[in-house]
Amino acid sequence: MSVKTRFAPSPTGYLHVGGARTALFSWLYARRHGGRFVLRIEDTDLERSTQESVNAILEGMTWLGLEYDEGPFYQTHRFDRYNAIIDTLLDKGLAYRCNCSKERLERLREEQMAARQKPRYDGHCRNRDVSPDEPHVIRFRNPDEGEVVFDDLIRGHIRVANSELDDLIIRRSDGSPTYNLTVVVDDHDMAITQVIRGDDHINNTPRQINLYRALGWAVPQFAHVPMILGDDGSRLSKRHGAVSVMQYRDDGYLPEALLNYLVRLGWSHGDQEIFSVDEMIALFELEAVNRAPSTFNTDKLKWLNQQYIMKSDPARVAHLLSPHLGDLGIDPAGGPDLVAVVEAQRERASTLVELAAISAFYYRDFDEYDAKAAKKAFKGEAGQALAAVRQRLAGLESWEREAIHHSVAETVEALGVGFGKVAMPLRIAVTGGAPSPDLDLTLYLVGREATLRRIDRAIEHIGEAGA
Ligand code: GLU
Repeated sequence: MSVKTRFAPSPTGYLHVGGARTALFSWLYARRHGGRFVLRIEDTDLERSTQESVNAILEGMTWLGLEYDEGPFYQTHRFDRYNAIIDTLLDKGLAYRCNCSKERLERLREEQMAARQKPRYDGHCRNRDVSPDEPHVIRFRNPDEGEVVFDDLIRGHIRVANSELDDLIIRRSDGSPTYNLTVVVDDHDMAITQVIRGDDHINNTPRQINLYRALGWAVPQFAHVPMILGDDGSRLSKRHGAVSVMQYRDDGYLPEALLNYLVRLGWSHGDQEIFSVDEMIALFELEAVNRAPSTFNTDKLKWLNQQYIMKSDPARVAHLLSPHLGDLGIDPAGGPDLVAVVEAQRERASTLVELAAISAFYYRDFDEYDAKAAKKAFKGEAGQALAAVRQRLAGLESWEREAIHHSVAETVEALGVGFGKVAMPLRIAVTGGAPSPDLDLTLYLVGREATLRRIDRAIEHIGEAGA
């Protein structure tokens, strides 16, 4: 049977990094085995599901490049199918109506807790033949005897006695089907061969396997992915900072860096850290996924992001950087070639937000000098040095790196001072103190007009400070 996996989020919030990693593992498994990947929106919880969340999930998947081959399928479009299956189970005596009151169930629970037993439904309505006309839920008749055994592709051999499982509700009193029923019907109908999901569902799996058996359906393989912890050892949540995938985009991360980080969170291949998507597809194995939870490490993600900023095609980095410059009110079309700016600056930033911030000076005059840098650079004879170099730069025939370099060198020689006495004030005059590459390249990219204007401003600034 050809491989088919799925990602089945409930649209009750944005796509968070835990969900994105589950989706990535599922997608990689399908791609690795030449299979198909399905996106299914589990929106049966009508109160908590929103269109906004659906959009956020789709946006996150698109940004990460986790393209699906089928879907998105919506469970709310499939209620007729679920109801038909529930009716089949009822007809075969594999499910029954239950009208136990909330009070009775509460009492039962309290008694069981007091007796130190695991709270579970006691099968009270199993043989009571509750009328369809009175309010009721439908419960699945779980087998009493035997055990459920399965080999989880990550967690290994798992065994659960049926005596541990109770008769779960498959249709609520409002007529809506529940998760454990819909997920089985969908995974069967969509011919899913490997169910890859968070291990918060591992307790549901034996119940779902019993449903497959009752319906006479083939049971898929399961792989339960361990959870992600924050640096304090508790489950990763908003408290630990950004957990929404799109927040990482806004914070200046490259999608390929986040993917690389997520694939390494719980999975490894030797001690390799950097994986292109093609490599991930070629190498990914569920068997190599760690059974223990992994800890989210923002510093490592940042390091990876920096590697991607430095090593990716500069045109791609420029494309992703552009909106971050937009956030600063800068349209890069009005200034030096953005690809050249990326090449000049990219070793100096670990996010695109930082890269935008340290590259703004190429496109517009900065508001103020970095105080420390200015104090150091604009002292002694800095004003005279700037005036002298300005004259040479203004007279250049063409604004080229080599010519710029010579102007600075000639000024240094004419004044009989060290290189730094000219270069330092000049650099701060033009950049304001932002990290920048070789001086001639910096000036070349900033352009003659802005360079001269900023030198004049610096001379004035030094004059005022000295007065
Ligand atoms: N909709 C479930 C969730 O978001 C996933 C169920 C599954 O993958 O089986 O937690």
